[in-house]
Amino acid sequence: MTARPPLASRLEGFGASIFAEMTALAVSTGSVNLGQGFPDYDGPPEVLRIAREQIDAGANQYPPGTGIADLRLAISEHQQRFWGLRHDPDTEVLVTMGATEAIAGALLGMLDTGDEVIMFEPLFDTYAACVSLAGAVLSPVTLRPDANGRFCFAEEDLRRAVTPRTRMILLNSPHNPTGTVFTREELQTVADVATANDLIVVSDEVYEHLVFDGGRHIPIASLEGMAGRTVTVSSGGKSFNTTGWKIGWACGPAPLVNAVRMAKQLFTFAGGTPFQPAIAAGLRLPAGYFESLADDLQAKRDVLMSALAHAGLEPYASAGTYFVGADVRARRADGDGMEFCRAMPAACGVVAIPAGVLYTPANAAEGRHIVRFAFCKQMPTIEEAARRLAAWK
Ligand code: GLN
Repeated sequence: MTARPPLASRLEGFGASIFAEMTALAVSTGSVNLGQGFPDYDGPPEVLRIAREQIDAGANQYPPGTGIADLRLAISEHQQRFWGLRHDPDTEVLVTMGATEAIAGALLGMLDTGDEVIMFEPLFDTYAACVSLAGAVLSPVTLRPDANGRFCFAEEDLRRAVTPRTRMILLNSPHNPTGTVFTREELQTVADVATANDLIVVSDEVYEHLVFDGGRHIPIASLEGMAGRTVTVSSGGKSFNTTGWKIGWACGPAPLVNAVRMAKQLFTFAGGTPFQPAIAAGLRLPAGYFESLADDLQAKRDVLMSALAHAGLEPYASAGTYFVGADVRARRADGDGMEFCRAMPAACGVVAIPAGVLYTPANAAEGRHIVRFAFCKQMPTIEEAARRLAAWK
């Protein structure tokens, strides 16, 4: 036996997924799980039905490496219908095992050792780990709440993050975990920095249809001059309540999408054969479906936010996604969000995610007191959580 520990040094310090840890805690304590962001209800019946029919019809072997042609066509149609983006379904669209694989493929397929990637933090946990796996360097730009509790970045922080080694900006809007939907002005700032420094932009837009209060998602690829340098990533998980199907995609100029494919073919090659036609049907649903999806979540956000405020957990703003952040300092003087989340199941039977772990280590103190709650649950689930929070002494 070698004395050397088996974990690769590039994975040191990343720990186990906080989402899995908190879901396990919810199950073991019988708590309401407002931690991991997955709906506790099913998506459109016609989408589910097609997957079942596909299995019965024998669609159970490998799909093509780039994805089934009709799904690539449906993705291309969807990008044009909602966002005015044009992608050749044969060369500019790639189906992946969830958005997570598309992002991993983009980072590992396009970054060399020592390349720098700018990301806005707090950030989704796999981003930082994949940068490390690529031997690249993460340059964080911290989002901070403004007077209205909306998390945003300072333009000078973004400009300062650029160096001669910067290769890429990884953007996520609507943003997990803060619920920020980047404005056109903010996206233009990112676009200007990318253009001035000849950077690739990878844009994680999995919450594209989950925008509230009459707001609208804007893909950065739709800004002038950006289509040629942007890989837009999304998935069917959040739009059709099928997070476990892991059908995602990457769209962009052929050379960039090809680089993603070169890496992704080594991870899973391809998968999800019976789910691909089902997601294609979902993408072709009428606009009303997508509108009611957002309206329904908005109502749940409102119920949860008022429950949090009543419980002394000051909620920040949330303009989209499944999530809202809350400041725990009024309930826990030391402001330790991790300990707060570990204690909350026993104290009141609700589980949430400590946002501190979603910052780079050097900036973890910025998010120590912030806890993320998910509202992508049935209204009775949210109401039960609200009752438990209200009864919490
Ligand atoms: N995207 C979801 C979240 O942020 C789930 C993440 C996960 O389980 N890896 O909660």
